[in-house]
Amino acid sequence: MAAEDNPPLRIVGGHLTLDLVNTVAPRRPAVADRHEYLAEPADLLEWAQRIELIDVAEAAAVEAAWSAAPGSGQQALRATLEVREASYALLAHRLGVSEAALDPSVAVGNLNLHWAAASARSALVLDGATVRLDVGITPAQVIPDRLARIAVDFLTTADTSRLKECPVEEGGCGFLFLDHSRNGTRRWCAMADCGSTAKARRLTASRRARATGQTG
Ligand SMILES: [Zn+2]
Repeated sequence: MAAEDNPPLRIVGGHLTLDLVNTVAPRRPAVADRHEYLAEPADLLEWAQRIELIDVAEAAAVEAAWSAAPGSGQQALRATLEVREASYALLAHRLGVSEAALDPSVAVGNLNLHWAAASARSALVLDGATVRLDVGITPAQVIPDRLARIAVDFLTTADTSRLKECPVEEGGCGFLFLDHSRNGTRRWCAMADCGSTAKARRLTASRRARATGQTG
């Protein structure tokens, strides 16, 4: 499917791990014609810059590393999608969404492998008076390495009491997001998209019901 056939990807998760999870639409159910926003290594590179996972200089290093080692871009993409699907399965499990494709015990094992690989490609660096963790000292894999590290942090430490899913049963896309609204009343990934689509659908249904003399 050509990119121009699809709406631009909405960055609505409120956390990088959720934005990663939300790179396939709809997120749920896994219909055959859903759109994969990370289809090629070039998509991954562009997206990683857009969400500010890597800066311009790092993106140039990634690109150089990928062209120096054929297949390494595909490898980074595959690792990214594995981190994404493992993260999604674990978050869906937390939300009680039963139809996530991956079993949570398999997901945690997969994420563990990517996190261990990322750790092996990380280093503690003395930075003035402090110590910092440099994740992704291997440019070819810096994107999945950072995503794995961030996902593990999110899954183990984040307050997910405001984690929500754009309501699939009401016409939403299944994207995950953190509801930072004051009263915790956010329902949709984006009111302008899923919210208004669902509203239009409800209006059509009630008009049709009135026209045919049915109630409800
Ligand atoms: Zn949505």
